[in-house]
Amino acid sequence: MLLPLANGVFAPVAPGDRPVFWAVTGRLGGHSVGEFSEANIAQHVGDNSNSVARNLEDLAGLVQIRRRNLALMDPQHGNLIARVTTPGIFHGVDSLVSEQSDVGLVAMGADCVPLILYGSRGDKKPIISAVHCGWKGLVAGVVTATITELRMQGASEIQSVVGPAICGSCYSVAPYRRELVRTSNPKGVSAVALAVPGGIDVRGGVLSQLALEGVNSIVVGGCTYENPETLFSYRRDGQTGRQGIIIAMREDRGQS
Ligand SMILES: [Zn+2]
Repeated sequence: MLLPLANGVFAPVAPGDRPVFWAVTGRLGGHSVGEFSEANIAQHVGDNSNSVARNLEDLAGLVQIRRRNLALMDPQHGNLIARVTTPGIFHGVDSLVSEQSDVGLVAMGADCVPLILYGSRGDKKPIISAVHCGWKGLVAGVVTATITELRMQGASEIQSVVGPAICGSCYSVAPYRRELVRTSNPKGVSAVALAVPGGIDVRGGVLSQLALEGVNSIVVGGCTYENPETLFSYRRDGQTGRQGIIIAMREDRGQS
């Protein structure tokens, strides 16, 4: 059984709210073996598809939905957003946004930052999002684009949970990448993202972008590269699995 690093619920605060469940996964407790051991949730990395399907079943169960109701991404390191009304695989986007109940939005990564966002909308149902953000996403502004989209859809109080990612010390990069991060972000954001000489702290940058937008965040998990027992890291291992984060809103919880 897939063991989450953490899970929780955004408790209802406004009349239209439903309980919104989230969970962050690492690599422990799943059905995969070898380099994908144990909780790989990605089908595209070369793992046994039956093992991944069982891990996805477990992942869905963490937020009390079925595997067939998952919405997954085939991310492109850009800033495009898909509006999700039905489950499935969404190609060419790094952000999913939905006001649909019982659909689980998933973002995965193995160094890149997986995060979810929750926006209360008063009398209307909440709106939820899952985002994948690596250094290119930091440059493209996928997180701020998603927050803008949520606000356009009426979200006021936005909260976030940010999953495990590689730290700046373990992520040294070519100078042009740092230059792109610097020139594409406000000074405060790039100061945090580029605090380590020669590296990019993508998660630090994402957290700065969130803070700049007034979004409160919970951070789950440490550096992917430094924790081989509990987290997948592409930079460390090359062929490896993916951990992730999931968010789902339930319609009927209040009556059950
Ligand atoms: Zn590190």
